[in-house]
Amino acid sequence: MDKKDSMLAYTYVERGRFALKEKPVPGLKEPHDALVRVTLGSICTSDLHIKHGSVPRAVPGITVGHEMVGVVEQVGSGVTTVRPGDRVTVNVETFCGECFFCRQGYVNNCEAPDGGWALGCRIDGGQAEYVRVPHADQGLNRIPEGVSDEQALFVGDILATSFWAARISEIKEDDTVLIIGAGPTGICTLQCVRLKRPRRVIVCEKAEERTRFVCTHYPEVLVVGPDDCRDFVLAHTAHGGADVVIEVAGADDTFRLAWECARPNAVVTVVALYDRAQVLPLPDMYGKNLTFKTGGVDGCDCDEILQLIAGGKIDTTPLITHRFPLSEIEEAYRIFENRLDGVIKVAVEGPAGGTGR
Ligand SMILES: [Zn+2]
Ligand SMILES: [Zn+2]
Repeated sequence: MDKKDSMLAYTYVERGRFALKEKPVPGLKEPHDALVRVTLGSICTSDLHIKHGSVPRAVPGITVGHEMVGVVEQVGSGVTTVRPGDRVTVNVETFCGECFFCRQGYVNNCEAPDGGWALGCRIDGGQAEYVRVPHADQGLNRIPEGVSDEQALFVGDILATSFWAARISEIKEDDTVLIIGAGPTGICTLQCVRLKRPRRVIVCEKAEERTRFVCTHYPEVLVVGPDDCRDFVLAHTAHGGADVVIEVAGADDTFRLAWECARPNAVVTVVALYDRAQVLPLPDMYGKNLTFKTGGVDGCDCDEILQLIAGGKIDTTPLITHRFPLSEIEEAYRIFENRLDGVIKVAVEGPAGGTGR
């Protein structure tokens, strides 16, 4: 195997600073590890949270990045589901598959020491040429024949999150579903919600270009701004609000908007990660009998998502508005972080990318 010794890795140096560094190519540490050559990665808002110090468990010095696809380069003796040469998606969650939580599908709460969101946060991630993936049997999913790297890029993180959000929201065919926020995860959520065939989908979004994106790609979806959202939802529903609300925005007033726009006995699913605590004014909502579902992704449906992509049911490639080689990742961050040039998501190509197309 003609593996290199050193590689480029985008690194969390200290609060406020990431830098592209030369690091040794990682090796396998445990029998259940795999080494993946990253062919395509992306930048997530969570990476920016690390950069700005709002993820306290993020370890300085680690390589960031937790959205990527690649080719398996090496596997440990305990790995059974993938082999060298396989094209794979990498799951944002590291999970053992055996503990109490994993057995019930609650993989976000895996009890293994490296369980949960570890890659690109507590251990080296994938904005690099290579990444070591622990618990590879769980964390890697083979990309079906005919599915490109760009089609599979978001499977392990924002698509897993969106798919899980749609799954737990108990959507029925008669429902009106309100999705708050049309950022990358909001748009992925929209795609996953549509698979449940609800009667109507309303998207609440403030930014003009994101509103335009939704109108262009999903003409049957109704779009409204936050100021008019409550009245709009009331006007388009028969029972005083949406049957299901999925809150993906995480802005200052969107949690309140979510439960205000819900009809009595609705399900309100909160996917958003807030910067500060939110108020649940129980006296105001007394008798509304809402069901709240909250939390981080239990990303254990990646094979199903990949099959849906292969079958043409999910297509997130229009989200990729910009492409950069890994060597220019600084510029990719500048554009993504400052929301320049109509960016939604950037694709970052590994030096040996392209082979996985
Ligand atoms: Zn992410
Ligand atoms: Zn576990």
